Amino acid sequence: MTTAELTNSVIVTDYKAKTEGSAKLFERATKVLPSGITHDARYLDPYSIHVGRAMGPLKWDVDGNEYVDYFCGHGAMLLGHSHPAVVEAVKRQMDLGTHYGASHELEVRWAELVCELIPCAEKVRFTASGTEASHMAIRLARAYTGKEKIVRFKGHFHGWHDHVAPGAISHYDGTTTPGVPQSVTDLTILTPTDDVSNIVQLIERHDDIAAVMFEPSGASWGQVPLPPGFVQAVRDVTTKKGVVMLMDEVITGFRWSVGGAQKALGVTPDLCILGKIVAGGLPGGAVAGSAAIINRIDHAASAAKNHERIAHPGTYNANPLSAAAAVTALSLVRDEKLAEKANRTAAELRSALRQVLIEESVPWGVYGESSVFLIYPNPWNDPIDPATFDPLKIPFEKLKGASNVNPLRGKIRMSLMSHGVDFFTPGGFVSAAHGAPEIERTVYAFRRTLRKLKAEGEVKSA
Ligand code: PLP
Repeated sequence: MTTAELTNSVIVTDYKAKTEGSAKLFERATKVLPSGITHDARYLDPYSIHVGRAMGPLKWDVDGNEYVDYFCGHGAMLLGHSHPAVVEAVKRQMDLGTHYGASHELEVRWAELVCELIPCAEKVRFTASGTEASHMAIRLARAYTGKEKIVRFKGHFHGWHDHVAPGAISHYDGTTTPGVPQSVTDLTILTPTDDVSNIVQLIERHDDIAAVMFEPSGASWGQVPLPPGFVQAVRDVTTKKGVVMLMDEVITGFRWSVGGAQKALGVTPDLCILGKIVAGGLPGGAVAGSAAIINRIDHAASAAKNHERIAHPGTYNANPLSAAAAVTALSLVRDEKLAEKANRTAAELRSALRQVLIEESVPWGVYGESSVFLIYPNPWNDPIDPATFDPLKIPFEKLKGASNVNPLRGKIRMSLMSHGVDFFTPGGFVSAAHGAPEIERTVYAFRRTLRKLKAEGEVKSA
């Protein structure tokens, strides 16, 4: 945002008046942290809030402001914040030790749960994050197939390591990003998702593909949805060609259903990666799938097949605190049908927000699957009917670009925050702890925000 837009905006002035403590912390933070933050998604001009406490669907910033939280730990907190059973399990484990440098029972129970719940999981290997799981899954696929190329899709995010960085949030033309050699990027075949038959032909044409990797929700938890038939078509052609089908379930795992998107869609990949919910809200990730592929890490199986084994250290793999949180959280997701509960609440929220757009005559869209919701803020003011909005009819560049347009994006967030609601992009994650009171507060904040944006000329009536 320009300085004039910042100082002349009532939305920004209101936000700053309520968040003086966060502003002071931000001033300190900028001296020691790039942009004063520790994750790109927390970037907000002039500054983002600093949070001191969270519980259930709510969080409180250092100034004491309360927010209905739709960041939900970047999607990790399906149970809501500080679920008492998870807190108890982690506290119990704290007293027993946080790192044994040895195997322990909780990691076995954790792996058993993943194998019970996730259809493709014959075996599982834990990592410290989704990015690490993504890195390992690609290495496994390359070792297993003896091929090097990875087919990825424009805008699909698989963490920040070199093999998946270009084309995820920028460089959709296949050029590389700073710090990543073009030779590494050239190992990716980057393609759009809109034409399924083109994708099938592309995979059929190449004999050097190790894996086809994708978010089963579509890019960024469904911001750019997949066309109908995409997942099954990829399954069919990868099976035919002996290519590894690698589903990124870091977001969708245990959320789209207790068995992830693969269970919800009824299509089983060869490998999947898990993160976020898999570790119960603590740090962790996993690669899970066919034993034949994962056994490339196994000592005996590699020796029996005369393969050079893939080494996999990692100080915090399956650390006892994450394992304790995970075993408790995943058991609750299974036993209390928490994915289904969150899905129902999110469907109600989507429909309530859509109704606000209709009533306020704002030509935006509300969409999303499972327990996520996405807002298309239509900065180009194209003619859109919120009642019939279909994201599949909007081009990739617009769906991806809409939430990056400043000052609109920042103003949406700041206005919602001034009314006690924290959205992620425009949109967010719903937890099993959210319910009717949170929907009501969100609807109020959304309506007030649309009216303020109209007053500042950011939104025009349909
Ligand atoms: N894959 C997807 C689909 C993600 O959304 C993310 C993180 O947001 C990752 C991979 C990377 O996971 P992590 O942030 O745990 O490294």
